[in-house]
Amino acid sequence: MSNIQEKVVIITGASSGIGEAAAKELASKGAKLVLAARREDRLKKLQDKIEQIGGQVVYKVTDVSSHQQMEDLAAYALNEFGKIDVLVNNAGIMPQAFLALKKVDEWDRMIDVNIKGVLYAIGAVLPSMRERKSGHIINLSSVAGHNIYPGGTVYCGTKHAVRAISEGLRQEEAMSGTNIRVTNISPGAVTSELLETTTDPATKAGLNDFYKIAIDADSIARAIAFAIEQPSDVGINEMIIRPTAQVG
Ligand code: NDP
Repeated sequence: MSNIQEKVVIITGASSGIGEAAAKELASKGAKLVLAARREDRLKKLQDKIEQIGGQVVYKVTDVSSHQQMEDLAAYALNEFGKIDVLVNNAGIMPQAFLALKKVDEWDRMIDVNIKGVLYAIGAVLPSMRERKSGHIINLSSVAGHNIYPGGTVYCGTKHAVRAISEGLRQEEAMSGTNIRVTNISPGAVTSELLETTTDPATKAGLNDFYKIAIDADSIARAIAFAIEQPSDVGINEMIIRPTAQVG
């Protein structure tokens, strides 16, 4: 039996891109899935697809920037499946632009979704994981969590924050003896709907060019599965996954 079989996995941002690919990959390996995002039509379609291949899956429409909705999501998962083994903290947005354009709403939104959403999700799953002395939290940072580049200032800030949160959480749980594993995944350019969140035409043109070498979301889904399927005493803490041809 694989170390993914029967595990209950919450995936935020499951309605497209990396989250959707992770849902399919983990369902094919026997996980029980709880999918979350805002677009219900997408979640329903994905649920139908996964059920067609015999997977066990439920979904809950959730905005990760709402603390209460994240608490409700964790409660829903516990109610449906009795435990939470893995959180894939994946929901994120990337409206990039120079600071001088003063897109304050986009700064706020990025901080709300990419940082607060990640924290709310961790806060929602930690109590039951700690009680069971078992669990795995996988956070999606980015190469932008390692590098900084013009136009990506706020996005890079949020992804650096995700990496800091991952490492801090890892240390706190390790010293507390809770057996909770933490994995920080930093993808490079991956084909998804992420670029659509950038509204500034000049920045978007640059990104479109940069993403010509992008790899499939499946590549990241396989890395997520790899981290989960290791024995429980093995923590895959940090992964950077770029297209082979990506320089920075
Ligand atoms: P997508 O845009 O395809 O997916 C983003 C997902 O996040 C969607 O399912 C979206 O669903 C969800 N989401 C956005 N806002 C919210 C919200 N407020 N509440 C709940 N869900 C939300 O992009 P990716 O799959 O590429 O992105 C996944 C993660 O990977 C992100 O954290 C991103 O930063 C990271 N990443 C991606 C890279 C890439 O090149 N693609 C590179 C490095 C990191 P909905 O709109 O239905 O709510």
